Amino acid sequence: MIIGVPKEIKTHENRVSLLPGGVLKLAKHGHEVLVEQGAGEGSGFFDKQYEDSGATIMEDIDELWEQSDMIMKVKEPIEVEYPRMREGQIIFTYFHFAASEALTEAVAKSRSIAIAYETVEEEDGTLPLLVPMSEVAGRMASQEGAKFLEKPEGGRGILLGGIPGVKPANVMVLGGGIVGVNAAKIAAGMGGNVTIMDISMPRLRYLDDVMSKNVDTMFSNEANIRSMLPHVDMIIGAVLKPGAKAPHLITRDMLSEMQKGTVLVDVAIDQGGCFETSKPTTHDNPVYKVDDVVHYCVANMPGAVPYTSTLGLTNVTLPYAVSLANKGWKQALKDEEELQKGLNIVDEKIVYKPVAEAFDMEY
Ligand code: NAD
Repeated sequence: MIIGVPKEIKTHENRVSLLPGGVLKLAKHGHEVLVEQGAGEGSGFFDKQYEDSGATIMEDIDELWEQSDMIMKVKEPIEVEYPRMREGQIIFTYFHFAASEALTEAVAKSRSIAIAYETVEEEDGTLPLLVPMSEVAGRMASQEGAKFLEKPEGGRGILLGGIPGVKPANVMVLGGGIVGVNAAKIAAGMGGNVTIMDISMPRLRYLDDVMSKNVDTMFSNEANIRSMLPHVDMIIGAVLKPGAKAPHLITRDMLSEMQKGTVLVDVAIDQGGCFETSKPTTHDNPVYKVDDVVHYCVANMPGAVPYTSTLGLTNVTLPYAVSLANKGWKQALKDEEELQKGLNIVDEKIVYKPVAEAFDMEY
Protein backbone atom coordinates (compact mmCIF):
# COMPACT_ATOMS: atom_id res chain seq x y z
CA MET A 1 0.00 0.00 0.00
CA ILE A 2 1.12 3.59 -0.57
CA ILE A 3 0.75 5.72 2.57
CA GLY A 4 0.80 9.51 2.38
CA VAL A 5 1.78 11.87 5.22
CA PRO A 6 0.85 15.49 4.47
CA LYS A 7 2.16 18.43 6.49
CA GLU A 8 -0.56 19.74 8.81
CA ILE A 9 -1.77 23.12 7.63
CA LYS A 10 -4.27 24.10 10.31
CA THR A 11 -3.05 27.19 12.21
CA HIS A 12 -0.65 26.40 15.07
CA GLU A 13 -0.73 22.65 14.34
CA ASN A 14 2.84 21.38 14.55
CA ARG A 15 2.21 17.69 15.09
CA VAL A 16 2.85 15.08 12.40
CA SER A 17 1.04 11.76 11.95
CA LEU A 18 4.03 9.47 11.42
CA LEU A 19 7.61 9.40 12.75
CA PRO A 20 10.68 8.24 10.80
CA GLY A 21 10.52 5.06 12.95
CA GLY A 22 6.97 4.49 11.69
CA VAL A 23 8.19 4.81 8.10
CA LEU A 24 10.79 2.15 8.83
CA LYS A 25 8.16 -0.19 10.25
CA LEU A 26 5.74 0.27 7.33
CA ALA A 27 8.61 -0.14 4.83
CA LYS A 28 9.61 -3.42 6.52
CA HIS A 29 6.07 -4.65 5.85
CA GLY A 30 6.58 -3.82 2.17
CA HIS A 31 4.68 -0.52 2.05
CA GLU A 32 5.75 2.71 0.42
CA VAL A 33 5.54 5.98 2.38
CA LEU A 34 5.29 9.44 0.83
CA VAL A 35 6.02 12.32 3.22
CA GLU A 36 5.40 15.95 2.33
CA GLN A 37 8.51 18.11 2.49
CA GLY A 38 8.89 19.59 5.99
CA ALA A 39 5.96 17.59 7.43
CA GLY A 40 7.79 16.66 10.65
CA GLU A 41 9.74 19.88 11.20
CA GLY A 42 7.29 21.41 13.68
CA SER A 43 7.75 18.38 15.93
CA GLY A 44 11.52 18.18 15.47
CA PHE A 45 11.73 15.45 12.79
CA PHE A 46 13.45 16.33 9.52
CA ASP A 47 13.20 15.21 5.88
CA LYS A 48 16.62 13.55 5.97
CA GLN A 49 15.49 11.30 8.87
CA TYR A 50 12.37 10.29 6.93
CA GLU A 51 14.44 9.66 3.79
CA ASP A 52 16.98 7.58 5.71
CA SER A 53 14.07 5.50 7.00
CA GLY A 54 12.90 4.78 3.46
CA ALA A 55 10.30 7.49 2.77
CA THR A 56 10.02 9.47 -0.45
CA ILE A 57 9.88 13.22 0.23
CA MET A 58 7.25 14.90 -1.95
CA GLU A 59 7.14 18.58 -2.86
CA ASP A 60 3.84 18.37 -4.71
CA ILE A 61 1.04 17.86 -2.17
CA ASP A 62 -1.62 17.17 -4.84
CA GLU A 63 0.51 14.36 -6.21
CA LEU A 64 0.99 12.93 -2.70
CA TRP A 65 -2.79 12.76 -2.12
CA GLU A 66 -3.39 11.43 -5.63
CA GLN A 67 -0.89 8.56 -5.27
CA SER A 68 -1.73 7.50 -1.71
CA ASP A 69 -4.04 4.58 -0.88
CA MET A 70 -4.11 5.75 2.75
CA ILE A 71 -3.61 9.27 4.08
CA MET A 72 -2.46 9.61 7.69
CA LYS A 73 -3.04 12.98 9.28
CA VAL A 74 -3.44 14.56 12.70
CA LYS A 75 -6.22 17.12 12.24
CA GLU A 76 -9.35 16.91 10.10
CA PRO A 77 -8.95 17.94 6.45
CA ILE A 78 -9.59 21.67 5.99
CA GLU A 79 -11.29 23.27 3.01
CA VAL A 80 -8.27 23.40 0.66
CA GLU A 81 -7.81 19.68 1.28
CA TYR A 82 -11.41 18.71 0.41
CA PRO A 83 -10.80 18.40 -3.36
CA ARG A 84 -7.73 16.20 -2.71
CA MET A 85 -9.68 13.38 -1.04
CA ARG A 86 -10.68 10.70 -3.49
CA GLU A 87 -12.87 7.64 -3.91
CA GLY A 88 -11.63 4.51 -2.13
CA GLN A 89 -8.86 6.33 -0.25
CA ILE A 90 -8.53 5.57 3.46
CA ILE A 91 -8.19 8.71 5.59
CA PHE A 92 -6.99 7.96 9.12
CA THR A 93 -6.99 11.05 11.36
CA TYR A 94 -8.90 13.03 14.03
CA PHE A 95 -12.09 14.17 12.26
CA HIS A 96 -14.53 15.35 15.00
CA PHE A 97 -17.28 15.24 12.36
CA ALA A 98 -20.07 16.28 14.73
CA ALA A 99 -18.45 19.71 14.92
CA SER A 100 -18.67 20.39 11.16
CA GLU A 101 -21.44 19.60 8.71
CA ALA A 102 -19.35 20.99 5.82
CA LEU A 103 -16.54 18.51 6.58
CA THR A 104 -19.00 15.63 6.94
CA GLU A 105 -20.57 16.44 3.56
CA ALA A 106 -17.20 16.91 1.85
CA VAL A 107 -15.85 13.57 3.08
CA ALA A 108 -19.08 11.76 2.13
CA LYS A 109 -19.03 13.34 -1.32
CA SER A 110 -15.42 12.30 -1.90
CA ARG A 111 -16.41 8.63 -1.35
CA SER A 112 -13.27 8.15 0.73
CA ILE A 113 -13.15 5.87 3.80
CA ALA A 114 -12.99 7.94 6.97
CA ILE A 115 -11.58 6.22 10.05
CA ALA A 116 -11.60 8.68 12.95
CA TYR A 117 -8.99 8.43 15.72
CA GLU A 118 -11.42 9.84 18.28
CA THR A 119 -14.05 7.11 17.91
CA VAL A 120 -11.76 4.07 17.96
CA GLU A 121 -13.14 2.48 21.12
CA GLU A 122 -12.19 -0.52 23.21
CA GLU A 123 -14.74 -2.88 24.74
CA ASP A 124 -14.60 -1.15 28.14
CA GLY A 125 -15.36 2.23 26.53
CA THR A 126 -11.81 3.63 26.59
CA LEU A 127 -10.76 5.69 23.59
CA PRO A 128 -7.13 4.63 23.07
CA LEU A 129 -6.30 7.28 20.47
CA LEU A 130 -7.56 10.10 22.71
CA VAL A 131 -5.89 8.98 25.95
CA PRO A 132 -2.39 10.35 25.22
CA MET A 133 -3.79 13.81 24.44
CA SER A 134 -5.70 13.81 27.74
CA GLU A 135 -2.48 12.81 29.49
CA VAL A 136 -0.65 15.73 27.87
CA ALA A 137 -3.44 18.22 28.65
CA GLY A 138 -3.72 17.05 32.27
CA ARG A 139 -0.01 17.33 32.95
CA MET A 140 0.14 20.71 31.20
CA ALA A 141 -2.84 22.01 33.19
CA SER A 142 -0.91 22.08 36.46
CA GLN A 143 2.23 23.44 34.81
CA GLU A 144 0.30 26.28 33.15
CA GLY A 145 -1.80 26.91 36.26
CA ALA A 146 1.36 27.21 38.37
CA LYS A 147 2.76 29.78 35.94
CA PHE A 148 -0.40 31.90 35.98
CA LEU A 149 -0.43 31.89 39.81
CA GLU A 150 2.62 34.17 39.55
CA LYS A 151 1.87 37.84 40.20
CA PRO A 152 3.25 39.24 36.89
CA GLU A 153 0.97 36.74 35.09
CA GLY A 154 -2.12 38.00 36.96
CA GLY A 155 -2.25 35.36 39.70
CA ARG A 156 -2.20 35.49 43.52
CA GLY A 157 1.56 35.35 43.66
CA ILE A 158 1.72 32.02 45.44
CA LEU A 159 4.36 29.38 44.72
CA LEU A 160 2.59 26.08 44.04
CA GLY A 161 4.92 24.00 46.20
CA GLY A 162 5.43 26.54 49.00
CA ILE A 163 8.78 26.54 50.88
CA PRO A 164 9.82 25.24 54.30
CA GLY A 165 7.77 27.24 56.78
CA VAL A 166 5.25 28.46 54.18
CA LYS A 167 2.24 26.41 53.09
CA PRO A 168 1.91 25.28 49.46
CA ALA A 169 -1.00 26.25 47.19
CA ASN A 170 -4.34 24.43 47.41
CA VAL A 171 -5.35 22.81 44.14
CA MET A 172 -8.82 21.46 43.41
CA VAL A 173 -9.20 19.05 40.48
CA LEU A 174 -12.76 18.51 39.26
CA GLY A 175 -12.99 15.11 37.58
CA GLY A 176 -10.60 12.28 38.40
CA GLY A 177 -10.39 10.69 34.94
CA ILE A 178 -7.34 10.72 32.70
CA VAL A 179 -6.91 14.50 32.59
CA GLY A 180 -7.65 14.83 36.32
CA VAL A 181 -5.27 12.14 37.51
CA ASN A 182 -2.44 13.51 35.36
CA ALA A 183 -3.09 17.06 36.54
CA ALA A 184 -3.13 15.89 40.16
CA LYS A 185 0.09 13.93 39.73
CA ILE A 186 2.01 16.97 38.48
CA ALA A 187 0.47 19.41 40.98
CA ALA A 188 1.26 17.00 43.82
CA GLY A 189 4.74 16.38 42.43
CA MET A 190 5.38 20.13 42.56
CA GLY A 191 4.37 20.04 46.22
CA GLY A 192 0.82 21.39 45.98
CA ASN A 193 -1.93 20.38 48.35
CA VAL A 194 -4.37 18.61 46.00
CA THR A 195 -8.03 17.56 46.28
CA ILE A 196 -9.60 15.49 43.48
CA MET A 197 -13.37 15.51 43.20
CA ASP A 198 -15.42 12.99 41.24
CA ILE A 199 -18.93 11.55 41.25
CA SER A 200 -17.70 7.98 40.75
CA MET A 201 -17.07 6.24 44.09
CA PRO A 202 -15.08 3.38 42.52
CA ARG A 203 -12.85 5.99 40.89
CA LEU A 204 -12.39 7.87 44.17
CA ARG A 205 -11.52 4.60 45.94
CA TYR A 206 -8.93 3.82 43.27
CA LEU A 207 -7.42 7.32 43.48
CA ASP A 208 -7.30 7.12 47.26
CA ASP A 209 -5.25 3.94 46.91
CA VAL A 210 -2.76 5.09 44.31
CA MET A 211 -2.15 8.81 44.75
CA SER A 212 0.53 10.33 46.95
CA LYS A 213 -0.28 11.52 50.46
CA ASN A 214 -0.65 15.18 49.50
CA VAL A 215 -3.68 14.21 47.34
CA ASP A 216 -7.12 13.92 49.01
CA THR A 217 -10.33 12.75 47.42
CA MET A 218 -13.77 14.27 47.90
CA PHE A 219 -17.19 13.44 46.46
CA SER A 220 -18.18 16.04 43.86
CA ASN A 221 -21.35 17.99 44.67
CA GLU A 222 -22.19 21.67 44.93
CA ALA A 223 -21.93 21.88 48.72
CA ASN A 224 -18.48 20.27 48.78
CA ILE A 225 -17.24 22.44 45.92
CA ARG A 226 -18.51 25.64 47.61
CA SER A 227 -16.87 24.67 50.90
CA MET A 228 -13.45 24.66 49.18
CA LEU A 229 -13.72 27.97 47.29
CA PRO A 230 -12.43 30.44 49.91
CA HIS A 231 -9.24 28.42 50.42
CA VAL A 232 -8.42 27.24 46.93
CA ASP A 233 -5.67 28.82 44.77
CA MET A 234 -6.11 26.85 41.56
CA ILE A 235 -9.03 24.85 40.12
CA ILE A 236 -8.58 22.44 37.23
CA GLY A 237 -11.74 21.51 35.31
CA ALA A 238 -11.40 17.95 33.96
CA VAL A 239 -14.91 16.50 33.92
CA LEU A 240 -16.44 14.58 31.05
CA LYS A 241 -20.02 13.48 30.62
CA PRO A 242 -19.70 11.25 27.54
CA GLY A 243 -21.58 12.63 24.55
CA ALA A 244 -22.84 15.71 26.41
CA LYS A 245 -21.77 19.27 27.09
CA ALA A 246 -19.70 19.63 30.25
CA PRO A 247 -21.78 20.55 33.35
CA HIS A 248 -21.10 24.02 34.83
CA LEU A 249 -19.66 23.01 38.20
CA ILE A 250 -18.34 26.51 38.92
CA THR A 251 -21.05 29.10 38.36
CA ARG A 252 -20.53 32.84 37.96
CA ASP A 253 -21.71 33.66 41.50
CA MET A 254 -19.07 31.32 42.94
CA LEU A 255 -16.25 33.56 41.68
CA SER A 256 -17.00 36.08 44.42
CA GLU A 257 -16.31 33.39 47.04
CA MET A 258 -12.75 32.90 45.73
CA GLN A 259 -9.60 34.84 46.58
CA LYS A 260 -8.42 37.45 44.06
CA GLY A 261 -5.92 35.95 41.63
CA THR A 262 -7.22 32.38 41.92
CA VAL A 263 -6.45 30.51 38.67
CA LEU A 264 -9.06 28.40 36.86
CA VAL A 265 -7.80 26.01 34.17
CA ASP A 266 -10.73 24.66 32.14
CA VAL A 267 -9.40 21.63 30.27
CA ALA A 268 -12.98 20.58 29.46
CA ILE A 269 -13.35 23.71 27.31
CA ASP A 270 -13.43 21.53 24.17
CA GLN A 271 -16.77 20.19 25.46
CA GLY A 272 -18.11 23.66 26.27
CA GLY A 273 -16.22 24.09 29.56
CA CYS A 274 -17.14 23.22 33.15
CA PHE A 275 -16.99 26.80 34.48
CA GLU A 276 -19.89 29.09 33.55
CA THR A 277 -17.50 31.96 32.78
CA SER A 278 -15.22 29.94 30.45
CA LYS A 279 -14.73 30.82 26.80
CA PRO A 280 -12.14 29.23 24.49
CA THR A 281 -8.73 30.91 24.33
CA THR A 282 -5.57 30.29 22.27
CA HIS A 283 -1.90 29.72 23.06
CA ASP A 284 -1.21 33.27 21.79
CA ASN A 285 -3.63 34.74 24.30
CA PRO A 286 -4.35 32.01 26.84
CA VAL A 287 -5.90 33.87 29.82
CA TYR A 288 -8.46 36.51 30.75
CA LYS A 289 -9.92 37.66 34.05
CA VAL A 290 -13.49 37.69 35.31
CA ASP A 291 -14.01 39.30 38.75
CA ASP A 292 -10.24 39.11 39.39
CA VAL A 293 -10.20 35.36 38.79
CA VAL A 294 -7.76 34.21 36.08
CA HIS A 295 -9.27 31.88 33.43
CA TYR A 296 -7.05 29.65 31.23
CA CYS A 297 -9.21 27.92 28.58
CA VAL A 298 -6.98 26.80 25.70
CA ALA A 299 -8.92 24.32 23.58
CA ASN A 300 -5.91 22.55 22.04
CA MET A 301 -3.43 22.37 24.88
CA PRO A 302 -1.33 19.50 23.36
CA GLY A 303 -0.54 21.79 20.40
CA ALA A 304 1.96 23.68 22.60
CA VAL A 305 4.15 20.61 23.08
CA PRO A 306 4.22 19.05 19.60
CA TYR A 307 7.27 16.89 20.28
CA THR A 308 5.67 15.07 23.22
CA SER A 309 2.22 15.06 21.63
CA THR A 310 3.46 13.64 18.32
CA LEU A 311 5.33 10.83 20.06
CA GLY A 312 2.36 10.08 22.31
CA LEU A 313 -0.06 10.04 19.40
CA THR A 314 2.06 8.00 17.00
CA ASN A 315 2.81 5.41 19.71
CA VAL A 316 -0.87 4.49 19.64
CA THR A 317 -1.82 5.10 15.99
CA LEU A 318 1.03 3.21 14.32
CA PRO A 319 -0.11 -0.35 15.18
CA TYR A 320 -3.54 0.43 13.64
CA ALA A 321 -1.91 2.01 10.57
CA VAL A 322 0.22 -1.12 10.08
CA SER A 323 -2.85 -3.30 10.40
CA LEU A 324 -4.86 -1.19 7.90
CA ALA A 325 -1.96 -1.26 5.44
CA ASN A 326 -1.24 -4.98 5.79
CA LYS A 327 -4.79 -6.29 5.70
CA GLY A 328 -6.73 -3.60 3.88
CA TRP A 329 -9.42 -1.69 5.79
CA LYS A 330 -12.20 -4.29 5.53
CA GLN A 331 -10.18 -7.14 7.04
CA ALA A 332 -8.49 -4.92 9.63
CA LEU A 333 -11.90 -3.73 10.86
CA LYS A 334 -13.18 -7.30 10.96
CA ASP A 335 -10.21 -8.44 13.05
CA GLU A 336 -10.05 -5.46 15.42
CA GLU A 337 -13.39 -4.51 16.89
CA GLU A 338 -12.13 -1.23 18.36
CA LEU A 339 -11.06 -0.10 14.90
CA GLN A 340 -14.53 -0.90 13.57
CA LYS A 341 -15.91 1.81 15.87
CA GLY A 342 -13.54 4.25 14.17
CA LEU A 343 -15.28 3.93 10.81
CA ASN A 344 -17.42 7.08 10.40
CA ILE A 345 -18.04 7.45 6.67
CA VAL A 346 -17.71 4.97 3.81
CA ASP A 347 -18.96 5.08 0.24
CA GLU A 348 -20.92 8.30 0.82
CA LYS A 349 -22.74 6.81 3.85
CA ILE A 350 -22.48 8.02 7.46
CA VAL A 351 -21.99 4.82 9.46
CA TYR A 352 -21.35 6.35 12.91
CA LYS A 353 -24.69 7.11 14.55
CA PRO A 354 -23.85 10.22 16.62
CA VAL A 355 -22.51 11.96 13.49
CA ALA A 356 -25.66 11.18 11.47
CA GLU A 357 -27.79 12.35 14.41
CA ALA A 358 -25.83 15.58 14.75
CA PHE A 359 -27.00 16.67 11.29
CA ASP A 360 -30.23 14.71 10.89
CA MET A 361 -28.58 12.71 8.14
CA GLU A 362 -29.45 9.21 6.97
CA TYR A 363 -27.68 6.48 8.96
P1 NAD B 1 -12.44 10.90 31.51
O1 NAD B 1 -13.70 10.29 31.02
O2 NAD B 1 -11.22 10.06 31.66
O3 NAD B 1 -12.71 11.57 32.95
C1 NAD B 1 -13.81 12.38 33.25
C2 NAD B 1 -14.13 12.23 34.72
O4 NAD B 1 -15.11 13.22 35.06
C3 NAD B 1 -14.71 10.87 35.11
O5 NAD B 1 -13.94 10.26 36.13
C4 NAD B 1 -16.12 11.22 35.60
O6 NAD B 1 -16.59 10.38 36.64
C5 NAD B 1 -15.92 12.65 36.08
N1 NAD B 1 -17.13 13.43 36.25
C6 NAD B 1 -18.27 13.46 35.51
N2 NAD B 1 -19.17 14.33 36.03
C7 NAD B 1 -18.56 14.88 37.13
C8 NAD B 1 -18.95 15.84 38.10
N3 NAD B 1 -20.17 16.41 38.06
N4 NAD B 1 -18.06 16.17 39.07
C9 NAD B 1 -16.85 15.61 39.13
N5 NAD B 1 -16.43 14.68 38.24
C10 NAD B 1 -17.26 14.32 37.26
O7 NAD B 1 -12.15 12.15 30.56
P2 NAD B 1 -10.72 12.84 30.29
O8 NAD B 1 -10.00 12.12 29.22
O9 NAD B 1 -10.06 13.03 31.59
O10 NAD B 1 -11.18 14.24 29.66
C11 NAD B 1 -11.69 15.31 30.47
C12 NAD B 1 -12.00 16.51 29.58
O11 NAD B 1 -10.80 17.07 29.05
C13 NAD B 1 -12.85 16.17 28.35
O12 NAD B 1 -13.81 17.19 28.17
C14 NAD B 1 -11.86 16.18 27.21
O13 NAD B 1 -12.49 16.46 25.97
C15 NAD B 1 -10.98 17.32 27.65
N6 NAD B 1 -9.67 17.44 26.96
C16 NAD B 1 -9.29 18.72 26.61
C17 NAD B 1 -8.07 18.95 26.03
C18 NAD B 1 -7.64 20.36 25.73
O14 NAD B 1 -6.65 20.56 25.02
N7 NAD B 1 -8.33 21.37 26.25
C19 NAD B 1 -7.21 17.87 25.71
C20 NAD B 1 -7.62 16.57 26.09
C21 NAD B 1 -8.86 16.36 26.72
